[in-house]
Amino acid sequence: MSMFKDIPVEVGVIYEGERIRRNDMQIELGGPSVDKKFEIAKVKPMDQIEDGRVFIVGPDIKDLKEGGVYPLGILIEAAGVQLDAGLEGVIERRLHGYLNYIEGFMHLNQRYDIWMRIGKKSFQKGLNSFEIVGKVLYRLFKNELSIIEKLQITFITDQTKINEYYSEALASYEARDAKARGLKDSEVDTFYGCVLCQSFAPSHVCVITPQRYSNCGAISWFDGKASASIDPKGPIFAIPRGEMINEEKGEFSGINETAKKRSMGEVTKVWLYTAFDHPHTSCGCFEAVTFYIPEVDGFGIVQRNFKGATVNGLPFSTLADSTAGGRQIDGFHGMSLEYMRSSKFFAADGGWNRVVWVPKEVKEKVKDFIPKDIIDKIATEEVAKNIDELKAFLKDKNHPIVAKWVTEETTPTTATTEDETMPVMTASTLPISAGGFRIILTDAKIYASKVVIKKDETKAEKR
Ligand code: SF4
Repeated sequence: MSMFKDIPVEVGVIYEGERIRRNDMQIELGGPSVDKKFEIAKVKPMDQIEDGRVFIVGPDIKDLKEGGVYPLGILIEAAGVQLDAGLEGVIERRLHGYLNYIEGFMHLNQRYDIWMRIGKKSFQKGLNSFEIVGKVLYRLFKNELSIIEKLQITFITDQTKINEYYSEALASYEARDAKARGLKDSEVDTFYGCVLCQSFAPSHVCVITPQRYSNCGAISWFDGKASASIDPKGPIFAIPRGEMINEEKGEFSGINETAKKRSMGEVTKVWLYTAFDHPHTSCGCFEAVTFYIPEVDGFGIVQRNFKGATVNGLPFSTLADSTAGGRQIDGFHGMSLEYMRSSKFFAADGGWNRVVWVPKEVKEKVKDFIPKDIIDKIATEEVAKNIDELKAFLKDKNHPIVAKWVTEETTPTTATTEDETMPVMTASTLPISAGGFRIILTDAKIYASKVVIKKDETKAEKR
């Protein structure tokens, strides 16, 4: 039974986290193969909003061919005496939760990177128009955010119209992000947490501080503050900073306590400014992944829309799978592009001096925040397509990491204590099944003098 009698599919929290595979989809909207797409919220004067109106610009769901991939822009325009532009980011991010409440509707990512699918079964049940999707959104927004008095929603599938709005949307995102720059973590006594992504990553808790933007890149510290003040029981909440435990790594007692409580005990320690040991958890909506490259002792970074293989031979999707799901994986880190503009960006690991490879597109976006003496020493896909080319480039440019190699090469390699070796495998939780028992190792680090990788012949034969 649907939450709304006049809506042909069910609507409810239980549908959050529902995945729709390619074979089961009626249509895909946005996603990796569509260049320009967006979702944005705008606060408008009361007299500019037609309350409850849903506009469709371009073909509707029922007019789009089954199995096809199409561009989409969503514009949410809201008005209310207590609303101001500072709440636009908060309203916009609610789209992720509300659209996922709809049975057979999958919404991933954010802002310029949205990716949606409508399932065949829900389409056959009657979910065949943006008018219906808009009606659901309107009711959920009005029910859950009473501060919104009037709301109109526009769905755009016409690529020319999307292109017209696109640069305006990008400029709005940038203006929002810029507002949060400059404020320091040490200058506030409250951070904010978000658990919107727990439907896909149950142990994930985003910790949003002035100097560490949310993983999705859609919620700044100011957005967190605004959201917690209008809806304190909602998915975004205040985290008292508590005691500073480790300034260099960014460990605070308030964050540890909240992470433990909100992750049901899975995450007990979060270090904000490092990718090692207890990195911030990675959900699935992150804009980019940082991956440790042991051969050069540096970080590679790759963004969601990067096509093809990175310098270690793996594409974004594989690297993202290695860290997603709310886990803390040593050396891997899902994050926003805005975090790369922070002076706390991997500060405990060497910051930009530890970064060795970044796609050209990302480098261009954050170039004003990369120290001048290192920017030309960081490789891109144009100069390094594999580890050998990367090593040669770093040596040639005298990247600061090269000095570390020299030190390490001259140090005796025989390890005498555990701390001097590198683990061959680390995992925040590692389940093992043996003798009818299930054993879960927490914060596991496995050391071995030799690793043997063998093909499983039985499985290979079965396939
Ligand atoms: S990535 Fe973080 S801030 Fe963004 S929606 Fe998910 S949990 Fe919230």
